Amino acid sequence: MNFLSLIEAKRDGQVLEAGQIREIISAYVAGRIPDYQKAAWLMAVYFRGLTTLETSALTLAMRDSGDVLQFPKDPRPLVDKHSTGGVGDKVSLPLAPLLACLGLRVPMISGRGLGITGGTLDKLEAIPGFNTTLSLERIVANVQSVGCVICGPTAQMVPADKGIYALRDATGTVPSIPLITASILSKKLAESLQALVLDVKFGAAAFMPTLDKANELAIAMVELGNECGVNTRALITSMDAPLGRAAGNWLEVKESINCLNGCGPADLRDLVIEFAAHLLVQTDKALSLPDGRDLAANCLDSGKPREKWNEMIVAQGADLEAFNLKLQHDHTAPVVMELSAPQDGFVAGCNARIVGEVVRDLGGGRLSKESVVQPEVGVDMLLPVGDVVSFGAVLCRVHALDKAQAEIALARLKTAFKISELPPGPSQLIHEVIQM
Ligand code: URA
Repeated sequence: MNFLSLIEAKRDGQVLEAGQIREIISAYVAGRIPDYQKAAWLMAVYFRGLTTLETSALTLAMRDSGDVLQFPKDPRPLVDKHSTGGVGDKVSLPLAPLLACLGLRVPMISGRGLGITGGTLDKLEAIPGFNTTLSLERIVANVQSVGCVICGPTAQMVPADKGIYALRDATGTVPSIPLITASILSKKLAESLQALVLDVKFGAAAFMPTLDKANELAIAMVELGNECGVNTRALITSMDAPLGRAAGNWLEVKESINCLNGCGPADLRDLVIEFAAHLLVQTDKALSLPDGRDLAANCLDSGKPREKWNEMIVAQGADLEAFNLKLQHDHTAPVVMELSAPQDGFVAGCNARIVGEVVRDLGGGRLSKESVVQPEVGVDMLLPVGDVVSFGAVLCRVHALDKAQAEIALARLKTAFKISELPPGPSQLIHEVIQM
C-alpha cells in the first residue's frame, strides 16, 4: 500500500474505497505507518470529511481490528447506552442494573474521564475492591450470569481506536463528526448489541457546543448504527447545568445509589427511566414509550435494581461490607466547605463547565492521561436551577483534600451560580429524539 497516495487522495477531497480504508486500519494497527503520516491522514479527514460509506468502512475496520464480544444464544437482548459525556452524568450506574432487571443483557464497556467530563470507570473505582479490568471471558460470563457488567475495554478490543484517539488528541483532530462516529460506534459494535441508545449532549460542558452540532453527530451515529444492524436511537440532552446534585467520583456513586433506592434528584431519575424506556421499545419489550416508562419506573421502585447493583459489584470484586460502610459516611474527603448564597432569589443558572473544571482541579479528573484521580473530591448539594434560595443558604458543598484547595474551589464556584430576582423560564433536559 502506498500510504502517501491515500493521504494525497483525501487531501484533494477524493472518496476512498472500503478496501483502501481497511488497508489503512490494518497497516495502522500493525505499526506499518509512521505517526507523521497517520496524523497527516487524520488532518486530511478532518478538513475533507468522509462519506457515509467511508465512515461505515472505517467503523467496521476499527471494530474488526480486535476482539468482538461473542455471547451465547439467549432470549435476553443485548443492549447498551453511551453518553458523549457531561458533568455529573452518572446515568450508566443505575441504568445498567435496571436494564438487567427488565430482562436485557448489558455489556457496558465504558471509558475514563478526560478534561471536565467524568468517566464511568473512574466513578466505579471509588468502590472498594471494584475491578474495571476484566477478561473477555469474564465479561461474557458476568453478563450471562448477572445480566450486566460495567468495565473497561480489554487490551484486545478495538486497538485501532486507542492509537487513533491518542493521535487525534495530540493533533487537534478530535472534533470531526466522521472520526467521532467511527470511534464511538466501533467500540459499541464490538459489544455485539441488538439495541443502542446514545445520549448526545450539547451546551456549556458538552463536547458538542450547540444543538445543531449535536444533531449532526446524532444523525450520523444513528444512521450508521442502524446500517450496521444495531437498532440505534439518540436523545439530544442539555448539558448547561450539572446532572443531578453531585459531581465527583464517589459523590456520584452515592447519588446513583439514592436513585436505585427510589429517591435522588428528579433529572437523574427521569433520564434513567427515559433511556430504559427507549431500549424497552427498541427491543419490543414495551409497546410504547409511556409503557416503557411505567415498566422502568415500577422496576426501579421495586428495589430489585438496587439488589442487582450489589450482585454486579460483587461479581466484579467489590467488598460489599466496606462499600455499605462507606455509603454511611456523610463525606470521605478530608475537608468539606459550604458555598452560601449571596442574596435572596432564584437559582437561574449553574454553569456545568465551571463545576467540571473545579472538580477536575480538585483532583477528581485528569489534566493529562497520566493524572491520578482522587475518588473522594467533588461538589455536592448543588441547588438545582429554578429553586428558590435565601441569603446565606447552601448553594453547594466542596469536598477537597485540603482547606486551601477548598477555598479556591469555593471562589470559582461562586462564579458558576447565577441568582436572579425573577424565576427562570422552564428548562428542558431532552431536546430531541433521533431515530429511523
Ligand atoms: N468519545 C469517543 O469515544 N471517541 C471520540 O472520538 C469522542 C468521544
